[in-house]
Amino acid sequence: MKVRPLGCAEVEAAPVCGPASVGADTGLVVPTIVEPEPQPDAATSVGDTANDWLCAWCHNRVANEKDRFPYNGKDEFTFRNPEGIRFEIITFSRTLGCQKEGVATLEHTWFPGYAWSYCQCGECGQHLGWYYAGTIEFAGLIISRIVRAVGVRN
Ligand SMILES: [Zn+2]
Repeated sequence: MKVRPLGCAEVEAAPVCGPASVGADTGLVVPTIVEPEPQPDAATSVGDTANDWLCAWCHNRVANEKDRFPYNGKDEFTFRNPEGIRFEIITFSRTLGCQKEGVATLEHTWFPGYAWSYCQCGECGQHLGWYYAGTIEFAGLIISRIVRAVGVRN
């Protein structure tokens, strides 16, 4: 049984990467370092529209971040409807390009004392959430059906 020595290949005595001789001007290539360009602050450059929430289907403006409405101190909720479908919603004190649909009802309402009706996109008609009418009125929009205007480029 032969045992081969490991890592003992005979190497010609070539100089291994000594300090680079940068003396003569013989085609020295200076590597170009590409640095990422500083991104302008979208919040200040785009203005308030950067805080818009848009319909995920047609990008119609439907709400604004500053209109978030805290209900009992929260403005995001997760509910299940009677069919067991889970919805995550954000509550807004008002909506923008939405329309109310249907007759308000207290049946299966997620907010006791608040009658709900459908909230649809005013442009494409998608069901985006619900309006709640009680001592005050607010809307709950389904997070997965709306997108933030930030980063959306038309
Ligand atoms: Zn839409």
